[in-house]
Amino acid sequence: MLDENCVDQLRSLRIDALTAKHLHHGRLSRKRKASLVVDFLAIGVPVLYFALRFTAKGTQHQEVAEIAWEFLAAILLALAIIKMSFRWEDYIGKHSELMAENNWFASKANKMADAAPSTPRKEFDQLREQAVELEDKDLRSLGTVPDQEKRRAYREALKESSPNGVCPICQSSAYSYTPGSCQVCGNTPSSGEKHAKGGLPNE
Ligand SMILES: [Zn+2]
Repeated sequence: MLDENCVDQLRSLRIDALTAKHLHHGRLSRKRKASLVVDFLAIGVPVLYFALRFTAKGTQHQEVAEIAWEFLAAILLALAIIKMSFRWEDYIGKHSELMAENNWFASKANKMADAAPSTPRKEFDQLREQAVELEDKDLRSLGTVPDQEKRRAYREALKESSPNGVCPICQSSAYSYTPGSCQVCGNTPSSGEKHAKGGLPNE
């Protein structure tokens, strides 16, 4: 059986996991967009080249079309080399995997909190060990996360964790965001604030 303190820890672990999930999602979507641009260019540049060559053939613009083609081909080649050298697909795969893992963990912590009276203490301790391992993987994958990005992800996690998205530190709602002094969510503390200072999520 788990006491109230354990349930609070589970709720907190859930928000931390959801925060990490949103951080991974941010990295993932940025890289996916960049990858999509390169793929689009890989098709678009040759199509544009044939169109230009066909329309400019035998005209005074033929030379300009050839220069434009060489320029675009060089850009495309550089982007393809960058994409391969920096292993974008591996990067996307890793963040995608950790996003799913954090989502699974958040769901498990929530179920355990809901079933607290019948949850054995051993299961709770195992989950905390998993949280440490997962946090370690997150830190290695995400590297240094700017505070602004971390707080934005935390607010998204609050919205996902409860209908009103209230920050447990400053009592403000993540749905009503005004940049403020809360060190955890970055919002302006509500008048019912207990204390606005606290560790940053995942620190
Ligand atoms: Zn807050």
